[in-house]
Amino acid sequence: MVLSRRSILLAPVLAKYPFRLGVASGDPWPDSVVLWTRLAPAWEEPGGGLPKRDIAVKWELYADDAGRKPVRNGLAYAEAARAHSAHAEVFGLEAGRDYWYRFTALGHQSPLGHTRTAAKNPSQLRFAYASCQKYEDGFFTAYEHMAKDDLDLVLFLGDYIYEGVGKPDHPRQHPSHEAVTLDQYRYRYSLYKSDPLLQTAHARFPWSVIWDDHEVGNDYANLTPGDQFPAAEFAARRWAGYQAFYEHMPLRKASLPTRQETRIYRRLSFGQLANLYLLDTRQYRDAETKRQMLGIAQRDWFFAGLKEDQTRWNLIAQQIPYSKIDKGTGVIPDKWDGYPEARRELTEFIVASRLSNAVILTGDNHSHWVFDVKRDFADPGSATVATEFLGTSITSTGDGLDQRADYAKRLPFNPHVKYFNSRRGYVRCRLTAERLETDMITMPYVSRPGAPASVGARFVVEAGRPGAVRG
Ligand code: FE
Ligand code: CA
Repeated sequence: MVLSRRSILLAPVLAKYPFRLGVASGDPWPDSVVLWTRLAPAWEEPGGGLPKRDIAVKWELYADDAGRKPVRNGLAYAEAARAHSAHAEVFGLEAGRDYWYRFTALGHQSPLGHTRTAAKNPSQLRFAYASCQKYEDGFFTAYEHMAKDDLDLVLFLGDYIYEGVGKPDHPRQHPSHEAVTLDQYRYRYSLYKSDPLLQTAHARFPWSVIWDDHEVGNDYANLTPGDQFPAAEFAARRWAGYQAFYEHMPLRKASLPTRQETRIYRRLSFGQLANLYLLDTRQYRDAETKRQMLGIAQRDWFFAGLKEDQTRWNLIAQQIPYSKIDKGTGVIPDKWDGYPEARRELTEFIVASRLSNAVILTGDNHSHWVFDVKRDFADPGSATVATEFLGTSITSTGDGLDQRADYAKRLPFNPHVKYFNSRRGYVRCRLTAERLETDMITMPYVSRPGAPASVGARFVVEAGRPGAVRG
């Protein structure tokens, strides 16, 4: 192939293909997106099969899918210290339009990716969201179906990887050791990202991602491990998990990890239609007093944003169940149920500020749930102040069931639960000024490839009327 004079920077030509982990784009703004790839001709090895030096990567952005005449191009640096990942923030784009992109490095071209900038003031927003994709539990068939939709955005709400030791007799194989070090987390992301269906969904739409616990370790709270891991070593482990997350995600520079903090909470704007808040309920939460879920800085930023409230809808994407789930076995301490003061503070803020159309989008629970968010969950007669759609897992916990007897028994104790289904799948949404339509997508199995997908249930939220209604 012919390279520009910059090929000096891009040499030497490698025999092995460096784009085995695919391409991605993310966080669409009206004038900008971030493009991602990682050079890893041998991702199975520490170092990814590349020397310990930075490598220039050329990126090109096109106005059509022929991918011939770039409308923008530039160089990004795949730094050795960041596993040769490249993040290119591209600015000066037109709002609400399709773009295609491709990387060139080491004498090879990446696959062509597609992305879309945010419209300045859209009349509708189509998006999907997913969570909990435990590799060993099954196949990522959900993404095969998602890729056929026409979406402006995909949200990933946490548990992109699972850190645990591989178990026998699962549909796919995890490593035989837990991920603790940076190299181990990198291996874990590479394994997941080598999946062709996951790559397809990344190459097809811009994604906005947040993490939950398994990007580091089960049920951790800020710097307190939730498992047997030594507390004194946890800060180093958490940093390694955050660093590997950044290296493998289409995140902007604002999310670059430092030793103190990796900031992933942020807001995306869709004109007067919606603000979309992406929250981090993991990094700043109190382990002991359980008063703070978001930490003071994030809470103040979030409340200040809500206070402006000039949009029709306020979408709040976050990790863990917000609504009360009464399983008859006591409060689950890791969820908002375990942080009643923080939940009351947010709910009362929504009420007091007369926030318009708050919708909470959630992952983590490996089942579909739809909730009316009650002002006081202890009082079924209290006002519904928001709506929560909790999406099931992509694969975690395996094939699943439509109903689980233990939960079904408890539904009378949870009158604010409008839907429950324990299959695998994702959630697809269409938002307009008048209403939010939500399809809870389910699949009959993930233990082998090729499952069909269907709409398990459709719900509608009418603007001005919080609460989910079967559509
Ligand atoms: Fe999970
Ligand atoms: Ca989780």
